[in-house]
Amino acid sequence: MTTPFQRELQVALAAVRQASLICRSVQAAITDEVLEKQDKSPVTVADFSSQAVICRALNAAFPEDPIIGEEDAAELRQTENHEFLEKIVTELSAAGIPESNAENTCRWIDQGGAKEYSSRFWTLDPIDGTKGFLRKEQYAVSLALIIDGKIVVGVLGCPNLPHPVNESIKGTIYYAVAGQGAFAIPLDQEQAAVPIGVTSTSNFSQSRFCESVESGHSSHGLSQQVAEKLGIQKEPRRLDSQAKYAVVAQGDADIYMRLPTRVGYREKIWDHAAGVLLVEEAGGTVTDINGKPLELNHGFELTDNQGVIVTNGPLHLGLIETLNKLATDQ
Ligand code: AMP
Ligand code: MG
Repeated sequence: MTTPFQRELQVALAAVRQASLICRSVQAAITDEVLEKQDKSPVTVADFSSQAVICRALNAAFPEDPIIGEEDAAELRQTENHEFLEKIVTELSAAGIPESNAENTCRWIDQGGAKEYSSRFWTLDPIDGTKGFLRKEQYAVSLALIIDGKIVVGVLGCPNLPHPVNESIKGTIYYAVAGQGAFAIPLDQEQAAVPIGVTSTSNFSQSRFCESVESGHSSHGLSQQVAEKLGIQKEPRRLDSQAKYAVVAQGDADIYMRLPTRVGYREKIWDHAAGVLLVEEAGGTVTDINGKPLELNHGFELTDNQGVIVTNGPLHLGLIETLNKLATDQ
């Protein structure tokens, strides 16, 4: 008997690896001058290159599958952005993609332009955590396959997270298939996959939580109040992107809180799908701030959920109860 979704997993792993290596080389070339000018062009080039290589690979293997990706090529096709497009084509050629030219590149990117729900689709964030990318910190390449509203394959490329077992290896790809566990492999070395798992603590005073670096993406004020109420003593670990899901999945933190900063913001499916499966397959729990499971069958937004709470499992209920109590007291 063959294990389900092996072909999907292999294609997704190879594509995320190729995209992550391009992102890594673009990030490495960010100079102090670019940093000072707050020039966003490196992330733009890496972001589009990543979406192009992943959509190209998915489309070759699974031509019928829609892809809900974060980017589209509309702006790139405008004449004033010609220079950007050329830079992206150069990156793709350097990555060994023979048919890369302006037209094909735009076509590949636009293959990720689905918006509506369908019974089988992929969702892609070519660079999650663009701010982290530009600060030369954490970011992730995130890809997931969703069938009938259930995440069945999740792959997360984290070029700046150390390998969970061998910390001297920088750059890790995390992956999970529904019912088959969660694993980590080095980004740029051939090595056997290692299984990863969440912590087992049920004691808030010994727990650590992680959250966004950006206070505009998750309320730092409210997470601090929750932490105080629960007796969490350790300082939060702040990092960009779905790397937070990986950190919980491999037991380096017990909780990830994503608390809405404004009424009406809807989380995007590509910011969560791969990370959610990774944590669930590592033994953890993911819901929204009301304890409701995430609904991935509404298109590109989580229209019926608010915020996201990720835990190792034992801490989940207590955290949700405290959050809701704080919300009613306010
Ligand atoms: P993070 O790196 O965890 O801070 O999250 C980055 C993601 O936050 C981006 O990919 C955006 O899609 C998303 N984002 C943008 N604005 C908001 C917001 N107001 N609330 C929550 N997430 C947001
Ligand atoms: Mg994102």
